[in-house]
Amino acid sequence: MEPLIQVRGISKSFSQGRVLKNISMDIRQGEILAVIGPSGSGKSTFIRCLNGLEQVDGGSVVIDGIKVDKTASVAGKVGMVFQQFNLFPHYTVLENIVRPCRTVKKMPKQEAETLALSLLKKVKLSEKADQYPALLSGGQQQRLAIARALSMNPDIMLFDEPTSSLDPELAYEVFDTIQSIAEENMTIILVTHQMHMVKQFARRVVFLENGSVGFDGTFQELLDSPDVRIRQFLKKIYA
Ligand code: ADP
Ligand code: MG
Repeated sequence: MEPLIQVRGISKSFSQGRVLKNISMDIRQGEILAVIGPSGSGKSTFIRCLNGLEQVDGGSVVIDGIKVDKTASVAGKVGMVFQQFNLFPHYTVLENIVRPCRTVKKMPKQEAETLALSLLKKVKLSEKADQYPALLSGGQQQRLAIARALSMNPDIMLFDEPTSSLDPELAYEVFDTIQSIAEENMTIILVTHQMHMVKQFARRVVFLENGSVGFDGTFQELLDSPDVRIRQFLKKIYA
């Protein structure tokens, strides 16, 4: 079977210089991939290129046979969750899911509400349906953001440091939710600094350094790598 995501020699520059340098990789359906690397190495830019939030200068990203050029080209296929939860503060928890289902997916009200309630149950927020996001903990807000992304029925979920702004306990709840999604054969790309999550969760780890892939392999291979730059990075974040 063709890989679900085909990244072919992508490059991306901003005014201050090249941020992605000729990155290529295949990601298969159901694969759970972690992307790690120093701050500024291009992790966010890379995954934003996968859903068309950033457009590549060279090379191509093809998802399920469709070339990604702007977000519309993969709308619905790729869900994304950010470090900042990006919820609608003036909508209730339930409406945060129902509204996009109505506007983006043109779902009938009843169907949208049924879906929203089942997703809230999945992320363990059923009893918060009528509250406003500001009253939720950071971990609950992030789980709502995950439920909202799932309501679009994506084939791929991108997580950009989803637990970085959370206390460890709340981070764990969110991680737990991500793990339950992984068990449903979702294709997941997770950018994180939290190495215990990478270890528990990802079968494959990509280390980005300065816009290039410095490593692509298993967690154990990463730990065993003789590469000095990888060893230095791991020493800092995985003591
Ligand atoms: P990471 O997620 O690994 O910390 P990023 O992909 O966010 O790295 O950023 C890589 C580099 O690209 C950084 O130097 C950052 O300042 C720059 N960058 C990212 N987004 C933009 C943008 N929209 N405009 C200009 N520079 C950007
Ligand atoms: Mg980033």
